[in-house]
Amino acid sequence: MITKELLRTIRNDLPMRVMFQRLGRQSPISKEIEGYFRFQCPSCGELRATVNPKNNLAHCFCCKRNWNNIDVLMSMDWDFVAAVEILQGWLMEHQRSFPTAYP
Ligand SMILES: [Zn+2]
Repeated sequence: MITKELLRTIRNDLPMRVMFQRLGRQSPISKEIEGYFRFQCPSCGELRATVNPKNNLAHCFCCKRNWNNIDVLMSMDWDFVAAVEILQGWLMEHQRSFPTAYP
């Protein structure tokens, strides 16, 4: 079942950088610039979508769109439910790898 709490955790607790690593070559182009993780905005195509490390949401400084993990997958034509399921799996594996970060 997809709950609000699940949606919140896959948006906030799975770092966008980790999601991009998992997506591998199919992910949008991304780059670490001055300590910020940036990626090619699926909306305008500029490499100016920048992840805010405080809330794990990205903001494109070109077209002003905001992005979360689910939005990025859906921009790649993923179905909402499929996106949630795969992100949930990646989040669980991520939390197992870094248990101290999730008391
Ligand atoms: Zn943009």
